[in-house]
Amino acid sequence: MSSASPVTANADIAARIRTIADYPKPGIQFRDVSTLLLDGPAFRDTIDRLADFVDIDEVDLVAGIEARGFIVASALSYVLGKGKLMLRKPGKLPGEAVGIDYALEYGTDRIEMHVGHVLPGQRVLVVDDLIATGGTALAAVQLLRDAGARVEQALFIVDLPDLGGAAKLRDRNVTPRALCTFAGD
Ligand code: AMP
Repeated sequence: MSSASPVTANADIAARIRTIADYPKPGIQFRDVSTLLLDGPAFRDTIDRLADFVDIDEVDLVAGIEARGFIVASALSYVLGKGKLMLRKPGKLPGEAVGIDYALEYGTDRIEMHVGHVLPGQRVLVVDDLIATGGTALAAVQLLRDAGARVEQALFIVDLPDLGGAAKLRDRNVTPRALCTFAGD
């Protein structure tokens, strides 16, 4: 397990994340990981470094949040050799689903998962590309805990600490780890 030393340790990763001002609305600095994804070695380093945060014996399932979280979670799931659970936008899952509504930095949303796909007591690692206000990640944690899962860790490529999401996760006894921090957002 590595200790977090965000910006300096992962400046190479941060440099590949594009910032788009005023998207999707004025005042938002959108941290666009699509430019990082285009760079194969940098994406591989991203996944390897995130995997270094994980004690493989303490995770049963990797839960990815649609859509960019799926990209990160799928690669991590492969590296860790753990199953991947999809936390999806509403109406996308074909089977019986359970969901939770939550507030975003710029609007509201909802995530859903299949009923019965996480078992009581399973240890689930929550993964997304970025944490801002924490609304999405907290909703994921609540949804999983309501199903009986144990959620103690969450991984992100980017943390926007000024928006407070990582602190809210810690308040709920979830340890958030991120490779890059963009302050001042
Ligand atoms: P939040 O629920 O506020 O923590 O927002 C996190 C979710 O919204 C993640 O799935 C991100 O992909 C997306 N998101 C929120 N704010 C930003 C931002 N400034 N730049 C890029 N993605 C963002």
